[in-house]
Amino acid sequence: MERASELRPNLYGLSRDELADALGPLAPERYRSRQLFRALYRRDAWRVETWTDLSRELREQIVNRFRCERPVIVSRHSSSDGATKHLLALPRGGRVEAVAIPAEDRMTFCISSQMGCAFGCTFCMTARLGFVRHLDAGEIVGQVAALAAETGARHGRYNIVFMGMGEPLHNADNVLRAVRLLTDPEGFAVGPRRITVSTVGLPAGIERLGAERLRPRLAVSLVSADEQTRARLMPVARAVSLEELARSVRRFGRGQRDRPTFEVVLLAGENDRPSHARALATLARRARAKVNLIEFNPTPDLPYRPAPEPRVQMFLRVLRAAGVIGTVRRSRGGDIDAACGQLAFTRQQA
Ligand code: SAH
Repeated sequence: MERASELRPNLYGLSRDELADALGPLAPERYRSRQLFRALYRRDAWRVETWTDLSRELREQIVNRFRCERPVIVSRHSSSDGATKHLLALPRGGRVEAVAIPAEDRMTFCISSQMGCAFGCTFCMTARLGFVRHLDAGEIVGQVAALAAETGARHGRYNIVFMGMGEPLHNADNVLRAVRLLTDPEGFAVGPRRITVSTVGLPAGIERLGAERLRPRLAVSLVSADEQTRARLMPVARAVSLEELARSVRRFGRGQRDRPTFEVVLLAGENDRPSHARALATLARRARAKVNLIEFNPTPDLPYRPAPEPRVQMFLRVLRAAGVIGTVRRSRGGDIDAACGQLAFTRQQA
């Protein structure tokens, strides 16, 4: 008889306490759920057959009542610069993309928090998909597990950026649960400063992130410090003023070693004028943020071009003169549509 698999709850993605509750009378000893927690996230042993420290009988009971499934990689596309885009099939159905970006010292995994996105930034390809659904915690951390297994990255020794598909703070419950599994020393054991949550800038979500015991880094996709320019490129700006956003970023950074980051994707003729650079420097000082200038990744479907290099240099000069730390992020994975804002599937994949 085929099991109605969708009716059995998925163990993958549960916290320690939730695992203990779910197993309940099946495994009344406290150490069992802890053992399972470590197996799932520390050893990536999510296939119940591999839990050989449990009796066969207990394994069978678990399989009868629960599923244990994490996302699995269904295809890979490697860029000439070393970045590899992975398409992952999700246990609850549907697919998302996640990118592994190797650097000399450490690997970075760029992961998705939603299928599609509700925010409609005009320069982002994921926005074109519209919002499909939130990912649950297991679907989020499972991307990390799948990419770590795939790349052979050492346990916990990688960076994670929530810069794939979706708006993490629109899905704050699941993203916070995922961050706790990722930072738990008995889970993925990733240092909180190795995790960056990147957001369109939702103050309520930023506040929740700031209240975490182990707080990840914060990056806000500012795009422009000019209210009208920002509102033209990012519809969310009509609901959140720059003033409010700057205050919330400043509050997040208070008492922290790392400054939050303003990410600014520079678009030719849109947000790359000297007046934009000056406004950015002023706002970054006020918010106590550093600035990461992002090279725009063009695609034929979007009506924008990257700002010319002299503009990028001009921004860096204006920021430096104002005492603001500014860096430039060069595009990776552009030739395989794996660069920032390009995750949207091709027609065959979706
Ligand atoms: N929703 C989150 C995370 C996804 S976007 C957020 O907005 O931060 C991650 C980063 O990619 C953002 O800083 C965004 O400004 C940038 N980005 C989006 N489209 C891009 C594109 N086509 N080229 C370069 N960067 C882009």
